[in-house]
Amino acid sequence: MLRVAVVGSGPSGVYSAQTLVQQDPAVHVDVLDRLPCPYGLVRYGVAPDHEKIKSLQNNLRTVLEHERVRFLGGVEVGPAGLPVERLRELYHAVVYCVGAATDRHLGIPGEELRGSWSATEFVSWYSAHPDSLADGFVLGARAAVVIGVGNVAVDVTRMLARGASELSPTDMPQAALSALAASKVSQVHMVGRRGPSQARFTTKELRELGTLPGTRVSVNPAELELDPAYGDPSGLPAPQRRNVEVLRGWASTPSGDDRHSVRLRFFLRPVEFLADGDRVCGVRFERTEPDGRGGVTGTGRYEEIEAQLVLRSVGYRGVPLDGLPFDAEHGTVPHLAGRVLRDGVVAPGEYVAGWIKRGPTGVIGTNRPCAKETATSLLEDAPVLVRREVPEDPLAALRAAGIAPVEWTGWEAIERAEAELGASLGRGVVKLPDWESLLAAARRCAP
Ligand code: NAP
Repeated sequence: MLRVAVVGSGPSGVYSAQTLVQQDPAVHVDVLDRLPCPYGLVRYGVAPDHEKIKSLQNNLRTVLEHERVRFLGGVEVGPAGLPVERLRELYHAVVYCVGAATDRHLGIPGEELRGSWSATEFVSWYSAHPDSLADGFVLGARAAVVIGVGNVAVDVTRMLARGASELSPTDMPQAALSALAASKVSQVHMVGRRGPSQARFTTKELRELGTLPGTRVSVNPAELELDPAYGDPSGLPAPQRRNVEVLRGWASTPSGDDRHSVRLRFFLRPVEFLADGDRVCGVRFERTEPDGRGGVTGTGRYEEIEAQLVLRSVGYRGVPLDGLPFDAEHGTVPHLAGRVLRDGVVAPGEYVAGWIKRGPTGVIGTNRPCAKETATSLLEDAPVLVRREVPEDPLAALRAAGIAPVEWTGWEAIERAEAELGASLGRGVVKLPDWESLLAAARRCAP
């Protein structure tokens, strides 16, 4: 029997576990997660109104219920919980699928003003992440600036523009729903530093903005025309060409009516957050122009956009895990086909998959081939790995170390508690938003 620990129960972790048990009947996998709940960014990153993507949880669930896979939630790997070195002693191999846990910074004056948040903080709040302490995002705000033109920027823009009747059927926590229902934010400016043909959002997500009830989406044709590929997008790769076509449509006919207005802006790079006391009241941008090599240069001309809420949506970043090597430049763990490299040399029994392996790019499905590559490397190494003695049952060793994992029955109890909470509010399933209520629910394991 080959005992493998997968650290992280998001898509890359679950797909790794799936490949391992599908390809080798001798493999047993424990999927560990710091949180008592599985599914990683599918639960805590995918926007609540994207029910179809969220339903991927059903596929992930099948893997976690496999007879040779075991979910162990509430286990923090690292110095504060189970050190990496101890974890390695308990299993023949460990696959780290810990994602990219923090957000990038802009490094410009005023970034820390009240009212300026990372998109990650906003997403965590409306996704009921138990570590999310912030609230008051939309309180007192009439206009918002979203910096960045990736899919997360589109998500947060859409959540600001959605009305209560559209959000109520989702599993969003009640406090976030009430706050967004009362929101007075009527204008959202989503701003890219480069041109429309370089935007990172995908066309399906972009197009969806134009279908939101009561929301008018507009662009500035003069800005779009600055992009050399805008006039003739035929040379662009298909995804970018389709984006340009959608924007072109909005340039001639803005979509929808105007309870909410979403303005997509381009060729503006943020240089400073403007302050009203200790609160943000706007963002100063420098106008840019294409440099002919896919980048932009500053023009020395500036524009200010008023906003009482600023969401910085400029990408995620991996964080180092104590005991594992880390490439600080890329925010990833160095690896060779998923095998962790220590000082350039393969470290036997240590693997990575997902964003901590390749950086925060791609959609959920990108994790499948990524996890498969890693699992294949691990199974190639299995004949050597299995020679090392490991405890009969790592769970007993974890308990002896004072760790009390939330097992699958605990997670099922959380699911029941969320269904009950929703029923009591006259809604569908509603997520529990804090550690206390999650752990209290998990302790009520009896069906
Ligand atoms: P992203 O796709 O990397 O987009 C980051 C955006 O921030 C880009 O527009 C980038 O512009 C901009 N940016 C970076 N640094 C900046 C700076 N200093 N000043 C101004 N702008 C800056 O990241 P993301 O939106 O966080 O998404 C992460 C991944 O999750 C992506 O692969 C995304 O597709 C995926 N995702 C998918 C979905 C979905 O499928 N529905 C939903 C959410 C997320 P430049 O291009 O100029 O660097």
